Amino acid sequence: MREYHKFYIDGKWVAPLEQKTVNTINPATEEISGSIALGGAGDVDLAVKAARKAFATWSQTSREERLEVLQRIMVEYEKRAGDIAAAITEEMGAPKGLANGFQVGLGTGHLATAIEVLKNFKFEETRGASTIVKEPIGVCGLITPWNWPVNQVTVKVFPALATGCTVVLKASQESHFSAQILAEVFDAAGVPAGVFNMIQGKGSVVGAAMSCHPDVDMISFTGSEPAGVAIAQAAAPTVKRVCQELGGKSANIILDDANLAENVAGGVTGMMVNTGQTCSATSRMLVPKARMAEAIAAAKEAAAQVTVGDPNSDVAMGPVVSKNQFISVQGYIQKGIDEGATLIAGGLGRPEGLDKGFYVKPTVFANVTNDMVIAREEIFGPVLVIIAYDDIDHAIEIANDTDFGLAGNVAGADLEQARAVARRIRAGSVGINSGFDFNSPFGGYKKSGNGREWGDYGFHEYLEIKAILGYTPE
Ligand code: NAD
Repeated sequence: MREYHKFYIDGKWVAPLEQKTVNTINPATEEISGSIALGGAGDVDLAVKAARKAFATWSQTSREERLEVLQRIMVEYEKRAGDIAAAITEEMGAPKGLANGFQVGLGTGHLATAIEVLKNFKFEETRGASTIVKEPIGVCGLITPWNWPVNQVTVKVFPALATGCTVVLKASQESHFSAQILAEVFDAAGVPAGVFNMIQGKGSVVGAAMSCHPDVDMISFTGSEPAGVAIAQAAAPTVKRVCQELGGKSANIILDDANLAENVAGGVTGMMVNTGQTCSATSRMLVPKARMAEAIAAAKEAAAQVTVGDPNSDVAMGPVVSKNQFISVQGYIQKGIDEGATLIAGGLGRPEGLDKGFYVKPTVFANVTNDMVIAREEIFGPVLVIIAYDDIDHAIEIANDTDFGLAGNVAGADLEQARAVARRIRAGSVGINSGFDFNSPFGGYKKSGNGREWGDYGFHEYLEIKAILGYTPE
């Protein structure tokens, strides 16, 4: 049982102003795994005050001083990697292989990237007589989701700290265990008091209090579109910067010259990673109309090979995060059946042999049309839809016919053609035959948000730009 009832404020573990707790549930067993405290607006205020006080000195530190702190964090992070992975498995059900591998590895990657970027980042430039200075924006409120819990926290905290900002973090209630260990890591690394602060609690209470707080200069939010809109509305009267990283319904266009069977199989397996709970998952697979039957055969075979079960064993897929998520995903599967899509793998209910836990069958629908609800809404579970296209223009039209614009993929043998298609997709990151890069910007078009994180682009989110005119008189 984990009991995390304290907040991290001004370099100390402190009790909430009001003692309120909530039980956490292990999604693999449906049993109580511990409890966390629920903060209020008063706790947020204390954390913001600590962050404001620390900003006065942290914002004035040198690049070298901040590099030293980040390097100390790396040492402590690596010491606790196993604990962080175990916490992720327990809180949101990621299989241990994924938790120890990619989930924890993303944190290491963002930290190593922040260190490298900071070494050479240009905080100043001269243009004629003017000097343009990039300064830390101030106190940043960071609000994060549960799905890649350590990734979401580290992709914000490291660039914020690297640029000289101070932060107040509110991680998701569903993924507080890993956030707690991260706070312990920062404490052990000797991050100066007040530079990193953490409050637990509900989005509607703690997140809302951060969003409207007059002394928070910026909110960096990752999560769902409705919460992103609520935060922007709450933040508007204080005119703070709001960076939003929201949902997606991304397309994987498999071009006619690609190896269809291989790419369909890869697309199915990729969709099921993290039990389909990935914002950038390519949840709409687009295949040439004449080859739908071939795609169905390959998808069926691939889905049958996805193992589901106890995340502490060697499986590809654990449970979804919560009962609510299970109910929501089941609702979408039912909707797909009702809409007349062809269910070719998975379907309603738990996988055979699993009577407890929020397990969902790896599910694939074929012959889906882009107007169906299962093609338009973010399901955030292991559900892939396959849509047929007539020609390349039609494929691009379908790919772009969505409210979202987070990611995408183009599979094709002719690189020039694949490049041309990638250029026409309205999304923040598009892979050609897949791809991954810690230094590339990550963020969305349209309702997928307005922010850009990762690499040096992530630094810009936390910086103000000041022009000092006449700095070098001519
Ligand atoms: P969510 O929006 O329910 O919650 C995210 C965070 O916001 C949580 O900490 C929550 O407590 C807080 N929150 C909720 N309502 C709030 C409010 N009114 N004011 C302030 N804070 C509030 O999302 P989730 O279920 O945790 O995560 C899943 C969603 O996140 C999906 O839509 C997914 O696509 C998205 N996501 C996006 C990215 C990206 O980089 N674009 C990455 C991961 C997840």
